[in-house]
Amino acid sequence: MNLRPTQTAYVGLGANLGEARETVRAALAELDRLPQTRLVRASSLYRSAPVDAQGPDFWNAVAQLDTRLAPFELLGALQQLEQAAGRERPYRNAPRTLDLDLLLYGTLRQDDSVLTLPHPRMRDRAFVLLPLAEIAPGLVDASDLARVAQQRIRRLD
Ligand code: ADP
Ligand code: MG
Repeated sequence: MNLRPTQTAYVGLGANLGEARETVRAALAELDRLPQTRLVRASSLYRSAPVDAQGPDFWNAVAQLDTRLAPFELLGALQQLEQAAGRERPYRNAPRTLDLDLLLYGTLRQDDSVLTLPHPRMRDRAFVLLPLAEIAPGLVDASDLARVAQQRIRRLD
């Protein structure tokens, strides 16, 4: 029996290769099927121009999870989903079939290159902040949104 308390985690999803829209939709459903994990809320889908990355525009979303997985277990599960979607890492910031970033895990803060929390670049990215603000407005400040206001992004549904 796992007596770890349930934690609220937020995951950022992105894809810009292949059937990227379907990949993001399918990944949201798969998050709900992870062990000891439930999808509480998913943002709308967004389209964003690549930031520090190449290739076509991205499809993005943010998911809120309730999970009893430990932080590294959850990261491992996310990486398995990336692999299953055919993720390759030919070079840094390459286009990707599926990118799953652990944005927040409860209030945990840790500085570890394998898993840094909160995600070190989340406050610089409109494709994280806008969907996150949609489902958890209390977690995003107006000053955060102002900082990314120049990044091209649009909400789709
Ligand atoms: P990026 O998402 O930054 O474009 P990758 O998805 O290839 O790049 O991730 C690179 C590495 O970042 C992974 O090996 C992972 O261990 C590490 N990492 C550190 N913190 C996090 C986090 N909060 N969420 C996801 N990956 C993280
Ligand atoms: Mg990633």
